[in-house]
Amino acid sequence: MTKANGLPILVAGGGIGGLAAAYALSLKGFPVRILEQAPEFREVGAGIQLGPNVFRALERIGLKDAVLADAWQPTGLEMRDALTGEVITRMPLGERAFERFKQPYMVTHRADIHGAFLEACQNSNLVTLETEQRVDDFADDGEKVTVTLQSGERAEGRALIGCDGMWSRIREKIVGDGPPRISGHIAYRGVLERADVPADLWRQDMIIWAGPRTHFVHYPLRRGELYNLVAVFHSDKYVEGWNAEADPKELFARFKGQRPEVLRMLERIETWRMWVLCDREPIKEWSKGRVTLLGDAAHPMLQYLAQGACMATEDAVCLADKAAEQTDDLPAAFAAYQQQRYLRTGRVQIMARVYGEFYHARGVAAELRNQFLQSRSVDEAYDGIAWLYGGM
Ligand SMILES: Cc1cc2nc3c(=O)[nH]c(=O)nc-3n(C[C@H](O)[C@H](O)[C@H](O)COP(=O)(O)OP(=O)(O)OC[C@H]3O[C@@H](n4cnc5c(N)ncnc54)[C@H](O)[C@@H]3O)c2cc1C
Repeated sequence: MTKANGLPILVAGGGIGGLAAAYALSLKGFPVRILEQAPEFREVGAGIQLGPNVFRALERIGLKDAVLADAWQPTGLEMRDALTGEVITRMPLGERAFERFKQPYMVTHRADIHGAFLEACQNSNLVTLETEQRVDDFADDGEKVTVTLQSGERAEGRALIGCDGMWSRIREKIVGDGPPRISGHIAYRGVLERADVPADLWRQDMIIWAGPRTHFVHYPLRRGELYNLVAVFHSDKYVEGWNAEADPKELFARFKGQRPEVLRMLERIETWRMWVLCDREPIKEWSKGRVTLLGDAAHPMLQYLAQGACMATEDAVCLADKAAEQTDDLPAAFAAYQQQRYLRTGRVQIMARVYGEFYHARGVAAELRNQFLQSRSVDEAYDGIAWLYGGM
């Protein structure tokens, strides 16, 4: 036991990944100090889909019920052609999916899952939560890690976990692979009250309207009280940016000519927010000594498989397991964690790009997609995604 073992583990970033990691580590008896740059712990954005795989991870840290409490269970995922309105495919997500994957498929408001993690951390006497603490730099002396905060203050920990997202500063220093790749895809997101959704357009399912170089998704949120809308299109107009106020003129130009159901729904939103979607090439090593990465900092991915937050939560559970197995050798624990995670997260990063191409297909490619999906049975559709939903 070294002197550093009395220090907390430092977590840079209090998003979904940082809070999940802190809580999972606290359950193994580690004191954790979360340093978040923002003035408050908060999630901006709208809904997220939670595949059955994340519930396996949530069950492990006792937060499954807390997340289920506010979530919504769509009965199916329906993909429609945005030009013809034709149903391309429908995958049941209710009981039949549960029987297959042994966990539910749910959708939830980002603030609700983040809130469940935050409350768990607040109720733990091993987790300290600090805001307005931007981690600017760190040094690992082999015994402990010292971080330098924006204020100039320093903080010491027995290790550091970079959960600082897509534009991670910690990654810059331990991987050094430059800025993320700008995909050229833009997402506009908005949330409606249920009462503001025209009755004939409200659906309890998750609906994906696949159009040429666009797609539009909608589903209920928060026990059905809200309705989530996500519109994605290709654009080379934006080179950088994250979560900015949007200009809907471009949005409507990109969706011109699509089904009235799509356009009527898009018109309901008064304030859209815009995301410039980025990712990175998968890597094998994202730990160095007493410092490791987790979530988007380690393996940022496009959202087409709806798995970034799910992967961050799985990471957290795996990291805590490995740390508990080698309490006195965290560098070895971090190496074991990345070894267990990199192929799974790399596969999601790569397959998310493929799904993006698939959703946005045009012309012959769209016809082939429709033919392929229409020819699949439900069990074949489940088999196709079992590598993801059946694992952790
Ligand atoms: C349009 C869209 C749809 C998506 N849909 C889904 C979905 O359906 N299902 C799903 O699972 N995932 C989805 N995702 C992905 C998911 O949102 C992310 O993968 C997930 O939020 C990543 O969490 P994180 O904690 O790793 O990073 P972040 O959420 O980015 O959190 C990083 C935190 O670190 C803080 N921070 C940054 N730098 C510093 C610093 N230097 N010091 C201290 N703090 C710092 C930030 O303020 C922030 O709080 C979607 C993403 C997008 C863009």
